[in-house]
Amino acid sequence: MLLGYRYKLKPNKEQTLKVLRWIDMLRANYNYNLADREATYQTRFIQGEYCNLRNKSAACPLTCPISTNSATSDTGEVYKVKKKTGEIKLKTAEEIQITNLPVLKQVRPWYKEIDSTVLQQNVKRLQIAYNNFFAGRGKYPKFKNRSNFQSFTFTTGIKVADKAIYLPKLGWVGYFNSRPIPEGFKVKSATVRLKADGLYVTLKIEDKAVPSFPIIPTEAVRTVVGLDMGITQLVHGSDGSQYSNPKHSTNKRTRKLLKVRQRSLSRKNKRSNNRKKARVKVSRLHQKITHKREAFQWKLARELTKKADAIIVEDLNISAMKKRCSTKEDSNQKGRFFPNGQSRKRGLNRSISDASWYSLTKKIEYLAAKQGKIFERVNPRFTSQICSCCGHKDKASRSKEKFICTNCGHHADADINAARNIKKRGIEIHSFPASCKVKIKVVPEDFREPEQLRLFEMPTTESTEGKRRRAARTLQTAGAWELG
Ligand SMILES: [Zn+2]
Repeated sequence: MLLGYRYKLKPNKEQTLKVLRWIDMLRANYNYNLADREATYQTRFIQGEYCNLRNKSAACPLTCPISTNSATSDTGEVYKVKKKTGEIKLKTAEEIQITNLPVLKQVRPWYKEIDSTVLQQNVKRLQIAYNNFFAGRGKYPKFKNRSNFQSFTFTTGIKVADKAIYLPKLGWVGYFNSRPIPEGFKVKSATVRLKADGLYVTLKIEDKAVPSFPIIPTEAVRTVVGLDMGITQLVHGSDGSQYSNPKHSTNKRTRKLLKVRQRSLSRKNKRSNNRKKARVKVSRLHQKITHKREAFQWKLARELTKKADAIIVEDLNISAMKKRCSTKEDSNQKGRFFPNGQSRKRGLNRSISDASWYSLTKKIEYLAAKQGKIFERVNPRFTSQICSCCGHKDKASRSKEKFICTNCGHHADADINAARNIKKRGIEIHSFPASCKVKIKVVPEDFREPEQLRLFEMPTTESTEGKRRRAARTLQTAGAWELG
């Protein structure tokens, strides 16, 4: 079983400066390696070797030594011999760049300060970025700047004590021991990360003796819940429950505060101390919002996973939802544009980011796995147009927040109807037992209280039939008395 625990560090001044220096150097090395790969790719492309851009295998491994700006010839060995079989293989880009590291230390002696596993992990990090790109999970690796490169990873020599953590070449670093590492777990790696309020370390801990969490078999599933995500209400459950959206960063107060802070930052002189202070203020505010959102989402995720044995959510393509509106150019006058609704869209995009549905579903997934529950993402296509009662699909069935089926007359809250459809799809995928099938209570038409009643009492939803009758009787006698 593999877990990640995060702690805040209490480094001394020397250690802090060291970490900052390391981050700068590692970023430079990351960018150098990326540039090296690109340069090699370009030179080979010109030579006509890599004509097929779509051929991933050809585009991926570069060979740094072939590149004109790469290091010396003694690491120029692009072949490796497998010890066991004696097979000769071409080295991957990652392997070549890792074997280049000692040369780097010779040429730039200040890199000797950094632990060698950290440097290796830094190369691996670039490789992971490339792997994600070729697997279609991510965009092409980018050059990093100070704002998006703030961490490095140790994989060996980590020791954890009560009050301090030993990190190679950094020494014993104090930390806030906010949660003990469970017995039997071994530290696999430590990632040091710079944040707005200081340094943090994430320990990856593993215990091979503890098996991964057991999963409830499909036949044993008794309850299923479908979840629909929204903005006014964050989550709609197929059981009719709704959870409101706290809007951590898009509420009026926070937005104003952000605006004020941002403005004060932009008015400061560049490279001034006051600008530094203002920047810290802005990032601290962002961090505070993130903390609040994280805490809220964990709490909500815990509540939602409790609901059922299987949790079904919609698989949203959020980046597509956040796309900009296409421009509308005036055909008569070139360079003139009509309003295209982007400014309104921007507000919606902000709300989508603020709701951060994906990270919420990630948390639900994690907690569900921990409890052995089934978690599934389903295609949300047409879930808001299909009747959860009879399955009839019609765009006209939905009008704003209400859903009234044009076929069978079934009516419900539009989002809850969608949640029920999501649940249905999950049941279809996993073929859960029949007892889990969507049960829908037929809700009678909204029963409106007679107007006169309100003169005497405010009827609440709890008021019983008897109470209502009594109230009506008193009303009648009172009316009669007045007339008489
Ligand atoms: Zn229907």
